[in-house]
Amino acid sequence: MTPMNIPPRDAVLISEVGPRDGLQSVKATMPTADKLRWIDALVAAGLREIEVGSFVPARLLPQMADVSEVVRHALTHPGITVMALAPNLQGAQAALAAGVHKVTLPVSASAAHSLANVRKTREAMVEEVRSVVRLRDAQAPGVLVEVGLSTAFGCTLQGSVPEDDVIWLAGLCAEAGADEVGLSDTTGMANPAQVRRLFTRLRAELGDRAGAAHMHNTRGLGLANCLAAYDVGVRTFDASLGGLGGCPYAPGASGNVVTEDLVFMFEAMGVDTGVNLHRLMAARAPLQAGLPGEPIYGMTPEAGLPKGWAAAGTASG
Ligand code: ZN
Repeated sequence: MTPMNIPPRDAVLISEVGPRDGLQSVKATMPTADKLRWIDALVAAGLREIEVGSFVPARLLPQMADVSEVVRHALTHPGITVMALAPNLQGAQAALAAGVHKVTLPVSASAAHSLANVRKTREAMVEEVRSVVRLRDAQAPGVLVEVGLSTAFGCTLQGSVPEDDVIWLAGLCAEAGADEVGLSDTTGMANPAQVRRLFTRLRAELGDRAGAAHMHNTRGLGLANCLAAYDVGVRTFDASLGGLGGCPYAPGASGNVVTEDLVFMFEAMGVDTGVNLHRLMAARAPLQAGLPGEPIYGMTPEAGLPKGWAAAGTASG
């Protein structure tokens, strides 16, 4: 296949989701001071987009009770995109009030997952996206609204998710005003052939509103799926430091793609990530300090960087 509209430069944006996706998947709550130190270390490593938390009621997710404070701190770093998840209009309102640069809304591609997860149909979630876009237009026109289509590659409740459903829903979200629509392998069921097909269709349908690849490593295919997405033109990838957010279905395997491994892969290929791998490895220390005993993952951190490592095309190593 001939992918269209691929940005010519060999660079990707790694969107670090650990402080949101990772922290909300673990039982323990990381103390605020540790979260701030961890985010500082991520910024120091060169990450330019960080999803710092989730605007959900603290009674549902006590791990995120301090999200406004975390956003305020992250905003003190110039030049980074501070992003937060909001499951609905109310959350988006709080996120905009806190001053985020970008709000991400989860919309389930699977009808069954949508009802189970947010107790709303997919169509009702599209209306939620439309309301958030209206609010953004009225109150914070510079803020980006992203949709992450969860269960886009399969669902633990309904099994396979028709590709036509995913593309139909992506089109509705873009029509509702979402600036970007990405695809998430929430359940770790994606394979590279499927990733190529779906992202190719997404890009044909949405053009430059086609968004990030959010891959999971549940069955060991996280990096392969990221590479497949890269090959058909995707240039933004979600990943989590240390693969934080372990998957309950696959003990010993990480849920989210491990940022360290993803950065290693791209840098070794000569694709610029803007991330310094030595400093990225150093960012594991504040993560571990804030969540003692929590398993974290990564093949590159375990093996170490190859002798004489210097990232191709950069002197940053
Ligand atoms: Zn995830």
